[in-house]
Amino acid sequence: MSDALTLYRERARQWLATFAPQYCGQARHGLSFEQDLRLAREWQALKVEHGYGCITLPTAYGGGGGTELEKVVFSEEEMRYDLPLNYFSISLNNPLPIFLRYANEEWKNRLAPATVRGELLWCQLFSEPSAGSDLASLRLKAEAVEGGWRLNGQKVWTSWAQIADWGVVVARSDSSLPKHAGLTYFFVDMKSAGITVQPIRRLGDEKDLNEVFFDDVFIPDDQRLGEINGGFRVAVETLMIERYAVTDESGYGPTLERFIELAANTRINGLPALADGEVRQRIAEVFVERQGLRAIHRRALEAFALGQAPGPEGAIRKLLLGRTRQRLGAAAMDLLGAQGLALDPQTHAVNDFAKAWLDPSLRIAGGTDELLLNTLAERVLGLPQDHRPDKGLPFSALKR
Ligand SMILES: Cc1cc2nc3c(=O)[nH]c(=O)nc-3n(C[C@H](O)[C@H](O)[C@H](O)COP(=O)(O)OP(=O)(O)OC[C@H]3O[C@@H](n4cnc5c(N)ncnc54)[C@H](O)[C@@H]3O)c2cc1C
Repeated sequence: MSDALTLYRERARQWLATFAPQYCGQARHGLSFEQDLRLAREWQALKVEHGYGCITLPTAYGGGGGTELEKVVFSEEEMRYDLPLNYFSISLNNPLPIFLRYANEEWKNRLAPATVRGELLWCQLFSEPSAGSDLASLRLKAEAVEGGWRLNGQKVWTSWAQIADWGVVVARSDSSLPKHAGLTYFFVDMKSAGITVQPIRRLGDEKDLNEVFFDDVFIPDDQRLGEINGGFRVAVETLMIERYAVTDESGYGPTLERFIELAANTRINGLPALADGEVRQRIAEVFVERQGLRAIHRRALEAFALGQAPGPEGAIRKLLLGRTRQRLGAAAMDLLGAQGLALDPQTHAVNDFAKAWLDPSLRIAGGTDELLLNTLAERVLGLPQDHRPDKGLPFSALKR
């Protein structure tokens, strides 16, 4: 950390201490979905006003014009508060930056500043029922028509589609080409005729996921991002923008300290659980993992400081965080016994062990555990690539 960055952190910390309490914790308790979303929009607007919203995006569109390291430092500090950031996690981190890279100036001026301020919200329409890890297998069809394109088909697992104003979407424009080559990338008005959004009910009752159906949806050609049939490259670029997401050390789950506190206050066979060998071993394992994660995080920060992008650290980090969160949740459930089965609607995976155990989303979204292991095998260990039997074949010739 340079002196300038240390000062930046200090200022951010003070700013957060002054403003954040009105937007987190008790301030959110008992709020309806709509009220919490309103609070989230107010928080985003306040950050933008003070230069902390979209820190790395250009000032011309309302961003902070800052560096990657400043963004990391601010996120680390912001993460200490239970703020309503989730609604914007997709909108501002992937669709907005890619839109700014590819859209024409008129569109950028029209949509970007309001998106930065949190007034407009975007979703990312990539995954389909038979295309998730293998995104290039998607089937949503884009047909060229006078002045634009007609889209037909379905997307699934679309976070915040129900409240999104705009979305980025990848569709198959030419199925005579190999699967990666026949895709085109667009942005779409989510209020367009022919779009239907259906919520997906989740185990912990989180209200983020949806199915989205496209029924003859018209998209003008000036809403195409990138070349015709060049959409896969733009999709990969979109996913690479957030190569290194800053997360808290418990993977958005209850902390190790909370687990230790629980163990200290629980008894096993009349003795404090903290004296139990198995419980102690679990604490030691999580502690060691956390030290490893801190070292990985420091390496990533050093890469940013040198103006480089972090390597596969992000994959190692995400893999460990997702697994640790669920394992710690399971260990806590063992201690809580029957009490751990009562789901409190006011809690979330961030602060509730049962929900942290029940919610595997961190191990699926943004790359499943197995895909991360593949990345590490290929990019770190230099092992041969995964078998790709469909390589080079026209998409239309592939078995469904
Ligand atoms: C909370 C949440 C939010 C999401 N938000 C969005 C969103 O906003 N927009 C969006 O487009 N998508 C979103 N997704 C979808 C997410 O991107 C996919 O779920 C993810 O890419 C996995 O795809 P899949 O579900 O189709 O599983 P599949 O890819 O079908 O995988 C099924 C299983 O097979 C394994 N597997 C697959 N391929 C391989 C391989 N080559 N080697 C070894 N194992 C393999 C996987 O690891 C997994 O265990 C979200 C998902 C979640 C859980």
